[in-house]
Amino acid sequence: MPKREPDDDAIQLSMLENGLDFILSGLKHISSQTSKFDLKYAVLHLSAGIELVLKDRLRREDWTQIFVNPEKATGEKLKSRHFKSVNLQQCLERLECCLVDPPDKALLKSFKNQRNPIEHFELNHSREALESSSAIVLGALIDFICEAYEDEELSSEESELLQQIRTGLGEFRRFTVARMAEIQPLLDDHKKGYGHIVVCPSCMQHALLADCDVQCAFCGYTASAEDAAELYIANMFGISRHYSMTEGEGYPLRNCPNCDNETLVFEEGYTETNGVCFSCGDTPPPGEYVSCDQCQELCHDEDRSGGMCPDCLKAYLSEDHR
Ligand SMILES: [Zn+2]
Ligand SMILES: [Zn+2]
Ligand SMILES: [Zn+2]
Repeated sequence: MPKREPDDDAIQLSMLENGLDFILSGLKHISSQTSKFDLKYAVLHLSAGIELVLKDRLRREDWTQIFVNPEKATGEKLKSRHFKSVNLQQCLERLECCLVDPPDKALLKSFKNQRNPIEHFELNHSREALESSSAIVLGALIDFICEAYEDEELSSEESELLQQIRTGLGEFRRFTVARMAEIQPLLDDHKKGYGHIVVCPSCMQHALLADCDVQCAFCGYTASAEDAAELYIANMFGISRHYSMTEGEGYPLRNCPNCDNETLVFEEGYTETNGVCFSCGDTPPPGEYVSCDQCQELCHDEDRSGGMCPDCLKAYLSEDHR
């Protein structure tokens, strides 16, 4: 049983309202962009807002859970706000434990992940990219809010803010649809030349022309396939090569058996989504490849013998193990 929440309407109402207000402010910074700093504030406000909304939902489930250390939660600390509260990752993990329909973790984290470079003023986003990724991420957040809150749980201020966010997003979506229609001939041309279209790590639209050097027809993002794969991993999974190395975790970038470039993002054990190669555009379904016991490279199951990929088997046999 969660501890009873201390009676304090001021706290109870402010967190969600504050979060929605941040989101609305973020949307305004995108749509009425007047200075080069607007997109920076947009991302900062949107990610702050997302975090607050999720934290509020967790608080309603069990207010002690927004403390990093729930055993040390007291009503006084909550009121004074003198406590260390959960970060986005922890919040999402705890929501996953207590809700039947938890929000899409990867998607929501992707916004936060965009934020880190921005705080260091390396903003590399176009307005198009931000409108489109906001529409996708906030669309998921709004669906979550509709699922996770009963109408009567929302104050009139909160409902009003939510409605304004919906209107703002509707405009972004209309923009996205119009822009997709506009670039369709470009995408078709690329496909006619046997090219593939994959998801763009910058705007999250299915509009990136896969190649050695990729280009997004939707938002104008250009990079080498390797850099695009790394940005995708950073944005979608929130990890960098450096982080993986220091934490001793596997980095989800693999050598692509189809084109032999190290540009295939394929989280091992990832059973719900296809892999994606930013060079050749291949999107292998889960289970398409297995990894070699010796070198850990991916290969088709039928090409593997004795747990080894063809290369390792060849090496093994040439060592006179015939
Ligand atoms: Zn893009
Ligand atoms: Zn490939
Ligand atoms: Zn091998």
